[in-house]
Amino acid sequence: MTTVTFEHVTKTFHQNTDAGSRRIRAVDDVSLKLISGDVLGVLGPSGCGKSTLLRLIAGLETPDEGTIYYDNVPLPEIDIRERGVGMVFQNGALMPHWEGWRTVGFFLSLRKREEEVPPRVARVSKVTGIGLEKLLERRPAHLSGGERQRVGIARALARDPRVFLFDEPFANLDAKIRTEARVELKRLLYEFPVTSVYVTHDQIEAVALADRIAVMRDGRIEQVGTYHQLYNNPVNLFVATFVGTPITNEFQGYVTDGQWQGNTFGGYPIRHDLEAGTRVTLGIRPEKVRLAAEGVPAVVDQATPFFAERYKLLDVHLDKEVWQLTVPLDEPVQVGSTIYCEFDPDGIMFFDTKSGRRVG
Ligand code: ATP
Repeated sequence: MTTVTFEHVTKTFHQNTDAGSRRIRAVDDVSLKLISGDVLGVLGPSGCGKSTLLRLIAGLETPDEGTIYYDNVPLPEIDIRERGVGMVFQNGALMPHWEGWRTVGFFLSLRKREEEVPPRVARVSKVTGIGLEKLLERRPAHLSGGERQRVGIARALARDPRVFLFDEPFANLDAKIRTEARVELKRLLYEFPVTSVYVTHDQIEAVALADRIAVMRDGRIEQVGTYHQLYNNPVNLFVATFVGTPITNEFQGYVTDGQWQGNTFGGYPIRHDLEAGTRVTLGIRPEKVRLAAEGVPAVVDQATPFFAERYKLLDVHLDKEVWQLTVPLDEPVQVGSTIYCEFDPDGIMFFDTKSGRRVG
């Protein structure tokens, strides 16, 4: 298995616009270690550089600055045939005239290891279950989107890759097939551990498949950690609001006398070394806001039941301040009524408003 290391990697693109040419740092000074055999999920908004990161690992793009290593060898020093990169994209890429089994075995045949094709294909098929074996007899035109992606994954695995890269492979599939494909892939990666990177917009997918998750913004990696770490201990406001649903509530305020004071309520203790008047944003997840007999008053605007999660999500407001909280499904709450909210002290997070950095 292979460890992939990024050392201060930057990739810049030049784009021509009406206002002239502009430079975009698609990947900006990224240092990162992909642990051998681990799956790293990459989450981030559209255009933040996720695909460019993958293409750099695959050697399809060359960094302007910095170096990528496979184990301890710089990528440019490794012959392309020895890199062993398996890639699966959103739309798959299969040979239109070949049945699935031939596609799966193609790379082994190419390397004159023909005799390894049938046992390897059989092993991959066995792990994915009967689904794949049936698919392998058909040509891509006779496969659905989900089936094509599974053949694409099986093909990459049959290559015995050193590094496996996924760029939203299940994004175009409907919810049910997507879940099935995800479970199948999880089983495959358990059986054939390969150092993998999985780019997705879908947090549930990232949680299900990845050992660690990297959150990207504007070409930079903001934080890497388990979902648990990102959720409970975000390093900045971006990670706090990007990771986790429902979304973290934000309240603008400032520091006064060792306390945080907002526009409509305040009095929460804050770090004493912060200068009075510093602008600080208070963040709290909706599940850390509780109904109480007294506390911050709020008018209920909307109550939305989430049956699987067994809670009701309330949208509330006080003057111009709006926020959300979760209450048990059977909690009788009337839209238009006034409730009182208590903020769990363990759930309160403070962020420097200017930089977004966590300050408590
Ligand atoms: P999405 O989630 O929408 O697929 P992404 O996070 O994968 O986005 P990238 O595709 O890596 O983002 O693009 C990062 C930035 O680099 C974007 O601003 C994009 O327009 C720009 N970019 C990517 N490839 C090129 C290229 N070949 N030439 C010019 N600009 C590019």
